[in-house]
Formats: sequence, C-alpha cells, structure tokens
Amino acid sequence: MIWGTVRRKETAMRKAFAISVILIFFVSFLYSIETKEADPLLIKVKPAKLTPMKTDVFSWLDANAVELGKLNDQIWSFAEVAMEEFQSTEALASYLEKNGFKVERGVAGMPTAFVAVYGSGEPTIGILAEYDALPGLSQEAVPQKKPVQEGKPGHGCGHNVFGVASTATAAALKQVMEKNRLKGTIKLFGCPAEETVVGKVFMARDGVFDGLSCCIQWHPDQENGVSLESSNAMNQIQVEFFGRAAHAAGDPWDGRSALDGIELTDVGLNFLREHLKPTARIHYVIQNGGGAPNVVPDYARAWYYVRDINRESVDKDYEWVLKIIDGAAKMTETTYKVNFISGVHETLVNRAGCEVVYSNFLLVGPPAFSPEDQAFAKEIQKNLSVEQKGLKADVSPFKLPERSWGGGSTDVAEVSWLTPTTALGVATAPIGVPWHHWAEVACGGTPIAHKALVIAAKVMAATGVDFLTQPETIQKMRAEWTGSTKGKEYKSPLPADLKPPVKPKK
Ligand SMILES: [Zn+2]
Repeated sequence: MIWGTVRRKETAMRKAFAISVILIFFVSFLYSIETKEADPLLIKVKPAKLTPMKTDVFSWLDANAVELGKLNDQIWSFAEVAMEEFQSTEALASYLEKNGFKVERGVAGMPTAFVAVYGSGEPTIGILAEYDALPGLSQEAVPQKKPVQEGKPGHGCGHNVFGVASTATAAALKQVMEKNRLKGTIKLFGCPAEETVVGKVFMARDGVFDGLSCCIQWHPDQENGVSLESSNAMNQIQVEFFGRAAHAAGDPWDGRSALDGIELTDVGLNFLREHLKPTARIHYVIQNGGGAPNVVPDYARAWYYVRDINRESVDKDYEWVLKIIDGAAKMTETTYKVNFISGVHETLVNRAGCEVVYSNFLLVGPPAFSPEDQAFAKEIQKNLSVEQKGLKADVSPFKLPERSWGGGSTDVAEVSWLTPTTALGVATAPIGVPWHHWAEVACGGTPIAHKALVIAAKVMAATGVDFLTQPETIQKMRAEWTGSTKGKEYKSPLPADLKPPVKPKK
C-alpha cells in the first residue's frame, strides 16, 4: 500500500515535470517568435510577383549565362586599375553595342568612361557598372594565395562581376522592352576609377547623370541582401611640401625640411581629432619623406582622407585641416601645394527603391552555390583561419540600419544626390574573409562569380521591369528623394577647373 502510494505520487510528479518542461519549451518558442517579430529594425517586404516580362528577362539571362561568365573571366583577367581600364571598357561597351545599344565612349574627359543607351522617352533608368581592379592583388582562381604575377593588380572588390552583371541587366531589359514595345530609356553608365573614388564624381560634375528618373546599382558582397546604410562624405588631397636641402649634420641650419612640414601637419591633425565630432575620420600616408637621413629633404608628399557623416561636416573639418597645413609650413619655413584629388557626398539612401529591389530579391532567391563552390569557399576560410561557414546561401532580412552612416565612402553617393538610387549586395566571397583581398580575387574567376552575377542581374532586371511598368514605384522613390535632398541643388565637391587624373593608353 505504502509503496503503491509512493509510486503513484512519483508517477504524478513525473507527469507534472514533463508537462512543465513541454510548457516551458512552448512558451519560449512563442516568445522567440514574438521577439523576432518585435525586432524594431526589421522591415517586412513581400516577394514581388512573377510576371511574364520577368520570366522573359530571367530566361534571357539563363540562356546567356555561359557567355556572361566568359565576359566576367575576361575582365577578371584584364585586372586593370583605375583609369587604365581600356580593355575592360571595350569588352563591356562592344558587348552592349552588339546587343543594340548606342555607345558614347570617353565621357566626362575620361577615355575609360562610357554611356550606353537604348530606347526613348520616359522613364529614363540608369544602371551603374564598375570595372576597375586594385593594385598588388594579383591572384589565380585557387583557394590559396597564389599570384598570377607578383605585384600586379587583381579584382579584390569584385568589380569584374559588378561590371558584367550590370551590363547583363541592361541587355536583358532591352530584350523585354523590344518584345513588349515598352516606352522608356535604359542608360548604362560605364564608371571607371571607383577604387580611387574618382570616376562618378567627374561624370556627375559634367552632367552625365542628368535627366534620370532613377538609378539601379549593386555591389559584390559576402551577404545576399539590401542595405539601407549610408556612406561617409569625404575629401582626399595630396599635399606637397617644398623646403631647402642641406647636409643634415654639416649645415642643417641652411636646410628647411619638407618632411618637417608633413610631420607637423600630422601632429596638428592628430591633436585636431580631440575637437572633431566622433563621426569624423582622418587618415593619411606619407608617400615621399625624403631620400636619406643625412640630407635635409627638400621635398615631401603625403596623402590625406578627411571623412565625416555629411558634406557640410567634411567642408568644416577640411577648412581646419587646411589651416593646420598652412601653420606647419609657417613653422618650418617651407612652402606647400594642396592637390585636390576628389571629394564625395554621403549616400542618400532611398528606402522606397530598395524595397522594390528587396521584393525582387525574394522572388529571385539567393545564388544556388554548388557543393564544389562551398568547398572552395571553405578551403579559403581554412587557409585564412576564418570559421569555415562557406558562402551565404540565403537572403538576409531587410532591416533599418543600426547607424545611418558608413565607415567608407563611395562615388555612387554623387549619383544618389542626382536621382533616387537603389542598392543590392550579392555574395561573391566567403563569409568573414577580409575584403580587398586575394580571397575575393580568387572567387571572382570561378563559378561562384558566374552564379552571383546572374542573380544580381535577375534582381536588377526584375526591378527595372517594375520601374518600366509601374510608374507609381518611381513616383514614390522620387517623392522620398525630394524630401531627402531637402531641395538642395547638387553641388560638386570638385573645383570647376579640376581635370580627371587620366592615364595614357599603354
Ligand atoms: Zn567596390
């Protein structure tokens, strides 16, 4: 009896315990759904609808994927740095000509900038293409560091994929416009020298982007998604100091050190940081600090970036920087010259446009990377001692940014001040590896890049179809954009007479 009661009690307790465990799990499951939905940054966007026109652009891109992959590999192997993109420009421009576009080469005084146009009337949809490589990043399409040629350039920012995907978008849109007799103009902008933050700034100053209804662009990434983060405004200058040479031990009193000018400028800038807003970023390198310690250098040169959250702040910071340079020259009895290289605005993010892009990303889906692609990515991660997570295989949630400004700067910002501009990122490199790195170069010449470029083109072309067929999407973007610009007219950060830093064709 006693034992029977104990056993019954035990069974009842076990049951109660089991029920409470289940309840706890259930409640925490509900809570997790609740907290996910309660993420205040999350923006809910429904996938776009598949229409016959979108089916058409997708089939065209699939049918042309092999040729586009070859074009990608070609530009990847050219690996031409800023202002030297002669072969890359020609490859993209002639591809567009073959596909029925009218191409104007050498716009805004840059031989490697072009505009390819198809169609007529409104809307006028811009598409941005970039294709410059980075110095010193030469790399074979293998998962360990192996330069094709030591010290030569490589596509460490994936601009080969960038250029081809944008070109493919324009060509796919042309097909569907022709077939359906859609009114509108497609303008693909071949934008050189993004890595030096130069190309689009000169194109913007010279009116190349004027008259657009909106603009579509993307960038290779480690994620698949649409970011609403802005970028920093920036000025970049090179400063030359001129002094007087002398024997550094024999008659140093006769010398005036140009290097002292640079060093005191840098000391001044480092003291200045305390009195700038936390959003300011100043960085520099000394490019020429003299030849030998026993000669007082009569020439020295340094390169400075001044960045901040917006154009007004950069203008203010920059004015103070100029005073410091002038002060350093006075202290050292040297003279100096400030060479303005380039300047950009902060990017004006257009949420309405980005929502259209994201809805189409949900429709298209992420790149379907193969087990071989994932193995290649993991091998790179292993070689770089990064967690072997492979390539991102899903579309990231669409969220408001945690901060509204970015660390880096881009010349896409100039376009965003001239017309509502959308953004998109597609995975072309393994998660967690450094950017501007041989790892990105390696992936850029493999099927990883070929798959990413077709996905990027599908999302952008589907977005283009929406813009061409639903005028209200553009109206909404433009209404938001008018509010963001606050009626301010675009003013180029460049001096009116500054010429682009073009290089001769070799
Ligand atoms: Zn880039």
